[in-house]
Parts: sequence; structure tokens; C-alpha cells
Amino acid sequence: MPIINLQTKAENFSYQIQIQENLLENLTKVFNFKDYSKIVILTDEVVASFWLEKIETNLTKNGFKPENVIIPNGEKHKNLETINQIWTKLLEFEIDRKGLLICLGGGVIGDLSGFVAATWLRGIDFLQIPTTLLAQVDSSVGGKTGFDFLNKKNLIGAFKQPVAVLIDPSFLQTLPNREYKQGLAEVLKYGLIWDLKFWGWLKENRQILLNKKATNFNQIIIQAIQTSCQIKAKVVEKDELETAGIRQLLNFGHTFGHSLESYSLKTEKPLFHGEAIAIGMNFAGELSNLTEAEKQDIKETLELFNLPVDYNIAKKEQTKVAKELYQNLFADKKNYSGKISWVLLQKIGKAIANEHLSEKIVINQIQKTIKS
Ligand code: NAD
Repeated sequence: MPIINLQTKAENFSYQIQIQENLLENLTKVFNFKDYSKIVILTDEVVASFWLEKIETNLTKNGFKPENVIIPNGEKHKNLETINQIWTKLLEFEIDRKGLLICLGGGVIGDLSGFVAATWLRGIDFLQIPTTLLAQVDSSVGGKTGFDFLNKKNLIGAFKQPVAVLIDPSFLQTLPNREYKQGLAEVLKYGLIWDLKFWGWLKENRQILLNKKATNFNQIIIQAIQTSCQIKAKVVEKDELETAGIRQLLNFGHTFGHSLESYSLKTEKPLFHGEAIAIGMNFAGELSNLTEAEKQDIKETLELFNLPVDYNIAKKEQTKVAKELYQNLFADKKNYSGKISWVLLQKIGKAIANEHLSEKIVINQIQKTIKS
């Protein structure tokens, strides 16, 4: 079973990311629940319908009595009201400092649980059991937690590392394909920013990665998750609190991606986060100092993974939308002093942060990206 150790300096402990088939059946063997006074599972309605009973049965069979909090699914519930409801439940369950919060779900549940764990009694342990590919390769690792506030994504939050991350590829079998594919966009990102060999490997294994029914799917997806988590863990260890300009590399594709995602959410063609990031990665690739062959490689690979690389806007709307998309770029959290800070590629497998580009170049690329 692949195990990755992540050493957190800010909180001064190390935790394991374990990736294993049938992990759910072996939950009490891979993690020591005995140290905790009470266990609460936080999940959403959809994940609960597929997986909660299985986990609760396993824990109960082994002598534990978990409580649960089930919230509605979706980003629109990643807010203070939901946090309030969870805190209220923890009070009702009399969760003390030795309580454990299990996060069973995608990135929304992960970010909420982490924030609740960071704030409840000034901090209790939380265990990540991520159920989407995006959460397995990205949000469950690294300790960024929080919620959206006044329509601003992740405006309020805290750094809080989990005590372990337990990843089972079986969860992906119930995940809708569009959700699964947006996780693949984040996997491809790791190849682009950090590891040319991994990028090549992903291309070679594309057909299996796109077919959850393939006989060796679990073996290949475990390898993809493992390499992604290894890269994320390395980046987090070098720059846990995002002060050294290294963790920002993980935001490759996110500057334009976030701008387009916020725009698209108001339209009839809302993009998923990973889809917007795929378009953003192609966008940042085009603006990078790469060869034409490298740019073509990025575009073709994203398309072969059935991910979008552009976003059609009706001709008469294009000038207005381009302006809005440009303005949205200034809301990015990487920016300081009103300057847009880009993550670009020096080559495939090596990213660089804090790059600045002229308005003209950026607008020109926006126009190319939204051409119908
Ligand atoms: P999500 O948590 O909303 O999950 C997507 C949907 O899939 C939900 O409807 C959920 O109910 C459903 N689902 C989850 N697992 C399932 C399964 N196994 N089977 C069937 N359905 C399942 O979204 P996400 O894409 O996992 O995460 C997005 C969130 O993650 C965003 O809020 C984003 O800000 C956050 N994020 C955080 C970090 C971080 O470092 N903390 C990094 C990236 C993204």
C-alpha cells in the first residue's frame, strides 16, 4: 500500500497519506481510533447515501459508536451557516478536546471539517477520507481549510493539518463522470508544474484513466493519486503557509480559471472548477515561454482527456465579457498591490510563480480563449 509521510513544521508533527483499495473494510486496522473520546463523521447527503452506512457499520463492528452530521451537498453550502450548524451539533454531541472529526466527502466537506476542527475548542483532530478525485489528489492534503463568505470563495479559513488522509479508489466508482474528470485536470496539473515524466506517464495511461471500468483501473489510478500526493506533499513541506512562493505553483491555471469559473456560474453554461482550471492551464501555457510544440502538447493532451481548452461566447458579447474576465483577475488571492501575479511554465514539468504580464498580452489571450 502506498504511504506518503507529510512533515508539518507549523504544527510540528507528521501525518500519513495512505492509498489503498478496500480501505473502508480495514479502517480500524489502518488508523487508531482508540485514542479518541468520541467520533463524529461529517458528510453530505449524496456521499452519505452511498457510503455512510458502510463506514458506520465497520466502526460499530469494531466497538466504536460514531455520531454523524449530514449536510446538503454543493459549494453553496460551504458557508458560515453550515459551520454554525456543525458547531451546534458538536455541542449537542458533547465533543471534547479528545474528540475526532472524520471528514467523509469531497473538497467542500474537507474544507468545512478542517475549519470546524481548527476552531472547535481551539482545535481538535480531524481525519480526511476524501471521496472525489479532486479531494484525493488536492484538497485533502496540505491543511488549507475554510468557507466562502459574501460570494468570495474561501475568504475565511485557517491552516489545519489532518491527522491522516485515507484514500480508497473505490469511492470513484460512484462519482459522476464529470466530477471525476475535473479531478483529472488537477492530476494533469502536477505533471505540468513539477514532473515531465509523470506528464508522459499520464498520456500513456490515458485510456485506462478515462475508463473506470477497466480491469487495471484501480492500479493505475492509485499510481496517479500517489504521484499527485507526493508532489503536493513536497510542495506543502517546502512552503506550508504559502509564504515562500512555492505553494503558489499549485495555482497554475487557477488565475484565469477562477476568473472564468466565477463568470460562468452566472450563465447557462456553468463550468465545473476543474474544467475552468483546464481552460486556465491552456491559457497560462499559451502565455508561457514555451515552444510551439509544448503548447500544442498541452492543448492536445487536455482535449484527449475530454477537458475544455476554450469557452465560447457569442460574438456580440465578446468585448464586454473579455473586460469582465480581465477585471475578475484582480480578485485572485495571489495578487499583491493590485498587480496580477501569474504562475507560468518555464518548460513542461517546471513552473514559476509571481510572473507579471502586460494588460495587452492578457486581453489578447482572453479574446482568443472566448472566441466562438
Ligand atoms: P464537492 O465536495 O462539492 O463534491 C462534488 C460533488 O460530488 C458533490 O455533489 C458530492 O456530494 C459528490 N460526491 C462526492 N464524493 C462522491 C462519491 N464518491 N460518489 C458520488 N458522489 C460524490 O467538490 P470537490 O470537487 O470535491 O471539491 C471542491 C471544493 O474543494 C471547492 O470548495 C474548493 O474550494 C475546494 N478545494 C480546496 C482545496 C484545499 O487545498 N483546501 C484545494 C482545491 C479545492
